[in-house]
Amino acid sequence: MQKTRGEMFPRISRRKTREIWVGKVAIGGDNPIRVQSMTNTDTRDVKATLTQIERLKEAGCEIVRVALPDERAVWALREIVRESPVPIIGDLHFDISLGEKAISAGVAGLRINPGTIKNKKRLDSLFKAAKESGLCLRIGINAGSLESDLLRKYGRPGPFAMVESALRWVNYVVEKFDYYNLKVSLKSSNWWETVKAYEEFSKKSDFPLHIGVTEAGGLIGGTIKNTLAVGYLLLKGIGDTIRISLTADPVEEVYVAYEILRNLGLRSLYPDIIACPTCGRCEIDLMKLYREVERWARGVKANIKLAVMGCVVNGPGEAREADLGIAGGKGVGIIFREGRILKKVKEELLLPTFFQEVEKFLKEHPERLNP
Ligand code: SF4
Repeated sequence: MQKTRGEMFPRISRRKTREIWVGKVAIGGDNPIRVQSMTNTDTRDVKATLTQIERLKEAGCEIVRVALPDERAVWALREIVRESPVPIIGDLHFDISLGEKAISAGVAGLRINPGTIKNKKRLDSLFKAAKESGLCLRIGINAGSLESDLLRKYGRPGPFAMVESALRWVNYVVEKFDYYNLKVSLKSSNWWETVKAYEEFSKKSDFPLHIGVTEAGGLIGGTIKNTLAVGYLLLKGIGDTIRISLTADPVEEVYVAYEILRNLGLRSLYPDIIACPTCGRCEIDLMKLYREVERWARGVKANIKLAVMGCVVNGPGEAREADLGIAGGKGVGIIFREGRILKKVKEELLLPTFFQEVEKFLKEHPERLNP
């Protein structure tokens, strides 16, 4: 990832995993850490689901998972797969026949949680069909639905029970079906247990890992849990694709994912915005200013650092490392570039002038634009 002014990142040595494919998106190996999410629309509503997939794609999401609750959802899947701009993964629980139909509908991947499937014998036919279609299978272990023999053995659904469950299913699929287009997740709603499970599994297998904390909570709580777990694992080089599970608009999951990746120096998509918390010196509506800059910046895919500061006393100085910034004054705003004051403009013209200056900067530095 290209650095912006004054940036320093931790040195991360990524764990070597085998390369797998979800449609045309390669995961693992030397590929970038992929960002994925899941729709929360009714899959049976094709229009609403495709609209959300488009929004996710626009935000930078590379793979989208959809729920398969019943026959009508699988029926709708055919059109969703055909029209989607990104590979679609079907999320399967309980009913094998829905998985078989999803394969016929052309999904690029299937997520199965073996713990929720009662008829284990029928799983063989699903694995066989999945292998033949070339799709990517995610063995998605969840602490809340582990097999009863493992719960008896370990006493509780902890990390070691999750790892044994994952290895059991991975080995089974590899040995019986010679099937390698696999990735694995080991999720718990407790972030530290999640971390321990992934660390333990990564010592024993080189299949790519889909990382994240399940049922993490809302925008603040869920972001914190996910940042702790995903950040910790990525710092250790573990993780090939991430899903930040949030009780929020799924597009927020994508923004949070890129924020984590950028702060670790692993991947950048959007501008980095530094902003002061405001204090008694601030004479401008900085919160509004920040919200406007953030909203605008979500339409700018560039590796650039912007600053939104409350006053000129500390503004340019505190944001010395920013490419461009604004600092509020009384009825005016100062625009600065690379630590130097560029111009003073009336408050009502501050935002449009600032956006023009950022666009001008990006024209001069096209290498900062992210594809
Ligand atoms: S930049 Fe100005 S308004 Fe913002 S925290 Fe610093 S002194 Fe206060």
